[in-house]
Amino acid sequence: MKAKKTVTVILTSVIGLTVGVSSAWAYGTISSGISSPPLTFTKWNGFDPATYTAFSNAASPWNVVSQGEIGKNIIDPNGTTTSTNSYPVDDYTNLITKGDRGLNQYLMQTTTYKYIYPWIDNHTLHADIDINGSFAWSNNQTSGTYDVQNVITHEFGHAAGLADLYGTGDTEKTMYGYSSTDETKKRTLDTDDINGIKALY
Ligand SMILES: [Zn+2]
Repeated sequence: MKAKKTVTVILTSVIGLTVGVSSAWAYGTISSGISSPPLTFTKWNGFDPATYTAFSNAASPWNVVSQGEIGKNIIDPNGTTTSTNSYPVDDYTNLITKGDRGLNQYLMQTTTYKYIYPWIDNHTLHADIDINGSFAWSNNQTSGTYDVQNVITHEFGHAAGLADLYGTGDTEKTMYGYSSTDETKKRTLDTDDINGIKALY
């Protein structure tokens, strides 16, 4: 997830994207879905309780869809806590971390791990999600901050196997690849986000 920081950033992105993209994809995938759902996330122990609640709220809409498809959750944000905030860590655990990564970096990012032979098995084995603490975050929609639940709903979509979307027709979708301060619309899944999960599970 990238930040829309300035008008310059927005315009540069739109120009770059419109060269090769004439219409929006319904959804995109980065894997065949989670190999053994749910992915249970271990969380950095420095988050406050409201942030843990935001994680739970963000997992819910994805799990509602997967419950209807396979009868089980795909994202479990209620794992144990850890003192590490290193990211990413290829250790077969699923981590949610936060650290000051710099304002020129991502807003929030998900790294997913698959087998090295995707033509044999393209499922997601585990995923690490990092929140860039260099940006201003809140859980109570403080003006001028990024909403944790809003953005991590998008990142859970990556963990589930969905790709970023950047088309001009994708801006209302949870999997749209840009976010702005004060935005909360990604908390609620778009029909195409739901259809992406239904295709994977
Ligand atoms: Zn993304």
